[in-house]
Amino acid sequence: MTTSTPSSSQGESLRLGRATIRDVVPYPTERSPCAADLSDNTNLFGAPPAALRELTTAGRDEITRYPGLHARRLREALADYAGVRSDQVVSGCGSDDVIDSAVRAFAEPGERLAYSDPTFSMIPVFAKVNGLVPSPVRFASSGDIDPDALLATEARIIYICSPNNPTGSLATRRLVDRVIERAPGIVIIDEAYAEFTDDGRVSEAPDHDRVLVTRTLSKAFGMAGFRIGYGTGSASLVHEIEKVRGPYKENTPAERAAACALREDVSWMRALAAKAVENRERFADALRANGLAPLPSAANFLLVPIANVALVAQQMRDRGIAVRPYPGLPGIGDALRITIGPWALMELALDALLEVRAAAVTIESAG
Ligand code: PMP
Repeated sequence: MTTSTPSSSQGESLRLGRATIRDVVPYPTERSPCAADLSDNTNLFGAPPAALRELTTAGRDEITRYPGLHARRLREALADYAGVRSDQVVSGCGSDDVIDSAVRAFAEPGERLAYSDPTFSMIPVFAKVNGLVPSPVRFASSGDIDPDALLATEARIIYICSPNNPTGSLATRRLVDRVIERAPGIVIIDEAYAEFTDDGRVSEAPDHDRVLVTRTLSKAFGMAGFRIGYGTGSASLVHEIEKVRGPYKENTPAERAAACALREDVSWMRALAAKAVENRERFADALRANGLAPLPSAANFLLVPIANVALVAQQMRDRGIAVRPYPGLPGIGDALRITIGPWALMELALDALLEVRAAAVTIESAG
């Protein structure tokens, strides 16, 4: 018999769990096979050739021994790519790990973490699991960040995502500067999707004493399975994060393969990022031609406002297409986030979306 009431042992762990994490919902990570998975903004064109080559040559010691404490090779490759010194880079198990560690390093429990809402869904979770108070503020009506609203929270940590997930919007440089100049604590600028734009300040972060710019190898670089992200900032700032992050967060074969990809496959990555941008604009045109209104995006995904989004996403999943539903986004309402990949996948997605929408119209008009 199935029941929704927690068993006595589940009830016990709920009682023992910290109050601040009781309402935290685990991140959805369903990965069952489907014709096209356009749900996680990864590089759907493939993995970097150097990474594939290096993975087949993992040595015995790389498996039996712990990795080096400071991921030296990877760190040097990241520093060269980002245009900073290697003591100005901190890496981690995905940029998730870098952001989470930074939150712990720079804010005491009870302090605030401010962000423009909607943004990366893990941000309020990182706040809560670290005992901080999430402080969402609205975007300005232009769709840009509202620096004064962010600053008015007096948050110890201000998080700015640019391009922003899930809207795809860029934060204007002048407005970010205003936040940096006046913030009482640390400003985290999340540039997970910066490779899809010409914008970004990964090389400038060390010039400030309170700025951490985070990036990832999971998106444009096509290595999400390696779980490698990084941050740049002043040497003393990244040192604080490293203390909190702890050792052995990356694995040796992934570290070596990623370092080679950073040295050899940057032009491979740039060409595919440009292709994703080209397909994004083509897909946006196709959506508009069918009466939909995707938000302007600077990333490898589009946010498409559409009613009954949970149902639409489920029915697209039934047709083999995975996309991410966002019900009731502040200022936007229901919307679907669709990752951009090779055109053949985008055609499948478009067909499924239009079919689902047409079926919904038929049901509505029949009812
Ligand atoms: N920041 C943003 C804005 C993201 O969308 C994601 C992934 N969804 C991450 C950070 C985390 O990426 P990773 O941990 O794979 O580096």
